[in-house]
Amino acid sequence: MMRLPLFAFRAPRTLDEAARILHGEGPDAMPLAGGTDLLPNMKRRQQVPHTLLSLRQIDALRAMRFAELGARLGACLTLSDIASDSRFRNGATALAQAAAQVATPHIRNMATLGGNLCLDTRCNYYDQSYEWRKAINFCMKKDGVTCWVAPSSPKCMAVSSTDTAPALMALGARVRLVSQSGEREISLTDLYNNDGMNYLHRKPDEILAEVLLDSLHDWCSTYWKLRRRGSFDFPVLSVAAAARFGKSGAIEVARIVIGSAASRPLVAEEAAKFLVGRSLTAETIAEAAALAARIAKPLDNTDFDMSWRKKVTAEFVTYALRELRGDDVSAERAAITRMPSI
Ligand SMILES: Cc1cc2nc3c(=O)[nH]c(=O)nc-3n(C[C@H](O)[C@H](O)[C@H](O)COP(=O)(O)OP(=O)(O)OC[C@H]3O[C@@H](n4cnc5c(N)ncnc54)[C@H](O)[C@@H]3O)c2cc1C
Ligand code: SF4
Repeated sequence: MMRLPLFAFRAPRTLDEAARILHGEGPDAMPLAGGTDLLPNMKRRQQVPHTLLSLRQIDALRAMRFAELGARLGACLTLSDIASDSRFRNGATALAQAAAQVATPHIRNMATLGGNLCLDTRCNYYDQSYEWRKAINFCMKKDGVTCWVAPSSPKCMAVSSTDTAPALMALGARVRLVSQSGEREISLTDLYNNDGMNYLHRKPDEILAEVLLDSLHDWCSTYWKLRRRGSFDFPVLSVAAAARFGKSGAIEVARIVIGSAASRPLVAEEAAKFLVGRSLTAETIAEAAALAARIAKPLDNTDFDMSWRKKVTAEFVTYALRELRGDDVSAERAAITRMPSI
């Protein structure tokens, strides 16, 4: 049986108090939300914070506010809260689809939006028990010096495996980060860093408090996820796409984001730019899919063959764009995943 290491536990009731404690405890303290990733990681000694700062007693972090100009989502809303709320449809469908495909119903009832956005990166050489990792002399991400995926690499290439981040990036989300010294709002895209160890541009004393969305009226969006088990599994490739169409049927704005193909979700800028002013014909979809797949360079450190995952990127972009133009792609979706109906 794997046991948790010893740790101190703090459970503040306000965000101010939480920010004060996190600052005072220093970088060895970590926020704890649903605990569905952090606690198993602690059991495997991948992360060994001396203090856990629980965010679960802070009511403000569970608020969900919708207004004409957009929405504010508290970081401690659970993924079940989001997947089951009918207000996340049409424009924000990608978010509901992503949340609905994380793990299992029990985990989604505990797992939070903030925890999903700050999820640790994953790698076959890292997501193992302490004894397994010790037997290979650990790796650079924790306790070792060598990267076993690319021994000459100075950088860890563990994979960003969050489902909601690509979806929210495609929706143009921003996040509010709060610390004792103040707060800042940044685009979610800028939260991520393409480095498996330092994968967030979040200071150790910052708490992700809210996700902010502009109005998605007139937008449509979708999320496609590749995983080995259709019922539940981490993504090993994902595609989120969102678009706003003009009256002529041509695209006014588009965003395509590729998940689980690097240490951060990748924005397919060239593909999105190419789509602006064009209608979604078979030819434009094929060109956009090829442009988007070009940036995906999956590595051999998660499930499935890496070159096959790259090919699937173009397929998924094709499905996503066909769905955005109104095609019925339920058969294609059913063939690859068992997404709960939302
Ligand atoms: C069997 C299994 C299957 C899973 N499948 C998936 C999957 O398919 N897709 C997927 O995306 N995830 C999956 N997960 C991982 C995890 O359950 C989810 O990512 C979940 O959303 C994490 O949220 P949490 O609230 O439990 O985070 P926690 O475990 O509490 O925290 C995760 C990390 O985020 C930090 N953190 C949490 N909240 C904040 C905050 N507000 N501000 C700053 N830092 C914060 C923590 O310090 C920690 O580093 C799976 C887990 C398990 C056990
Ligand atoms: S990519 Fe390399 S350093 Fe990073 S977790 Fe995997 S083996 Fe370790």
